Amino acid sequence: MARTIEIQDHITVGDLAEELMIPVTQLMTDLMKIGVMATVNERLDFDTVQIIIEETGQDVELKHKEKEVVTKERKKRSYSDTATTRPPVIAVMGHVDHGKTSLLDSIRKADVAAGEAGGITQHISAYQIKHDDRLVTFLDTPGHEAFAALREHGAMLTDLVILVVAADDGIKPQTLEAIRFANKAGVKLIVAMNKVDKPDADLNRLKQQLSDNKILIEEWGGDVVAVPVSAKTGEGVKELLDMVLLTADVEDLRADINTPAEGLIIESHMETGRGPVAIALVESGELKPGDFVVSGTTYARVRNLEDTLNNKLKVAGPSTPVVISGFKSLPSFGDEFTTVKTEKLARKAAEAAGIEKSKTSARAGSGSDLISIMNRSRDLQQLNIIVKADVQGSLTSVINSLKSLDTKEVAIRVIGSGIGSINENDAHLALSSEAIIYGFNVDLPTSIRQTTNRDKTSVRLYKVIYELIDDVKQEMSDLLAPEVKETVTGKLKVLAVFKTTKTEIICGGEVTKGKLVVPSFAKIYRDKDVIAEVEVTNLKRGPQDAKEVIEGEQCGLNIATKSKLDLQEGDRVEVFTREIIERTL
Ligand code: GDP
Repeated sequence: MARTIEIQDHITVGDLAEELMIPVTQLMTDLMKIGVMATVNERLDFDTVQIIIEETGQDVELKHKEKEVVTKERKKRSYSDTATTRPPVIAVMGHVDHGKTSLLDSIRKADVAAGEAGGITQHISAYQIKHDDRLVTFLDTPGHEAFAALREHGAMLTDLVILVVAADDGIKPQTLEAIRFANKAGVKLIVAMNKVDKPDADLNRLKQQLSDNKILIEEWGGDVVAVPVSAKTGEGVKELLDMVLLTADVEDLRADINTPAEGLIIESHMETGRGPVAIALVESGELKPGDFVVSGTTYARVRNLEDTLNNKLKVAGPSTPVVISGFKSLPSFGDEFTTVKTEKLARKAAEAAGIEKSKTSARAGSGSDLISIMNRSRDLQQLNIIVKADVQGSLTSVINSLKSLDTKEVAIRVIGSGIGSINENDAHLALSSEAIIYGFNVDLPTSIRQTTNRDKTSVRLYKVIYELIDDVKQEMSDLLAPEVKETVTGKLKVLAVFKTTKTEIICGGEVTKGKLVVPSFAKIYRDKDVIAEVEVTNLKRGPQDAKEVIEGEQCGLNIATKSKLDLQEGDRVEVFTREIIERTL
């Protein structure tokens, strides 16, 4: 039975030696073998520890230790006695291809109001539906990273996570990631056991897997609701929404409406003819046309208030996603917004935020540089990609082609994808995760280009799929560690040693095989053993310097050595060259 070692993100060399029950000196030697020079107190990251365990053949299983302290408690908004019930805000999460998009589509189709608006092909980051005459807000965040990014901002705008798991595929890495997110955030989960229409759907296996991962469903005596659904046929979708509302009732979600409106920016982009446009979620208060809204360093007078299906609104209360245009510049994803009484106050608040930001930007820069360097060394062979395409069909084919490129050495991670132009969210996500943005048949609006240029984010636009794929392949090749090719050119027998210092030896000998070249490397053999590896820095044929000396000739050679070497008559020198070969996939 393998022992289990749990570490958080790091462990010191000393502590690891203790865990592995080996002397620390041995661990340090083992580390050196994999190219890591570390002292006792140095911290090793998870991946390095994993490699060392594999290298040393220890029967140990390494696990991530969950952080003991929940980083940020779910920020329950305080509200007064007069607060009213508000709709629940739901995020749908789960492993890629398990049916998140299809389920959201199916929910939207089942809703008459949204259905009438009809033919929605554009990705909408948030919208409301009506079920049993009650509103439910759905967030369609572009992947887990966006959810995490929102959390980073201290924002806890999700009340409930619907975890989509395909019943024919079971729990996968991103399912587990979603469970971790929800647990950390203290958000309730409802499991949608999707694709039940498929013949190989296995609900029992899925329930078992859930229970193995500490998600105990009601049927098995736990408190997690799990509903069998098919996003394809619509089966179970009504029941799922019933359960969503029931859970929301238990949570008793409320918010004040008689306060200045406040909320969060969940998307922003430029629109031709409208300028900067933001999608925001109202968290408390009521937003009305004519209000002045401040977010970070920018502000707007809300001229038209619209829902995300472009219906005009007279008022938007808590949990309502709204479209706000009229901002002076693009507000940032994840920033809060507040309302103030006058335009002057709005301008002043935005200006003050700008001054504050410029004061802290130098500091922030160095911090994030460090993080990016750390990430780079840890995720050396992972290529993060964001894909945007014009239509769902082409998006799916690009993503499917990318998936087939994964190799053992370089993994492709599509951390965000969507339909439509490259927007501020994509730029933000690319920066925080060092991703390349690929656009297929879409454009890069000038305002976003300014952001990506500033952030040095790489954006590649293509109209032909295989060209896009070739580009990704090239990027993957660049991540492969180059190969070092060694070629033996010749051998020499030492006949005399003329001079020996700590770092240099001058000797003479006869080439017994092949040719000696310079500059080159050499192994020194005594009998059958290699006693040193050195560099050959110069060759002399008689008094003359030579570039090469061939078999049968005698020559003098200068050898550079890192450790003192006691070269003797009769030792053999095997000379080789080293070539660095860039690898391609
Ligand atoms: P996402 O990556 O989680 O958003 O997954 P998608 O919604 O794009 O679905 C991935 C694939 O599974 C698509 O080909 C869908 O048509 C298919 N799919 C999704 N839900 C169902 C379902 O309930 N039944 C069946 N048979 N296929 C489904």
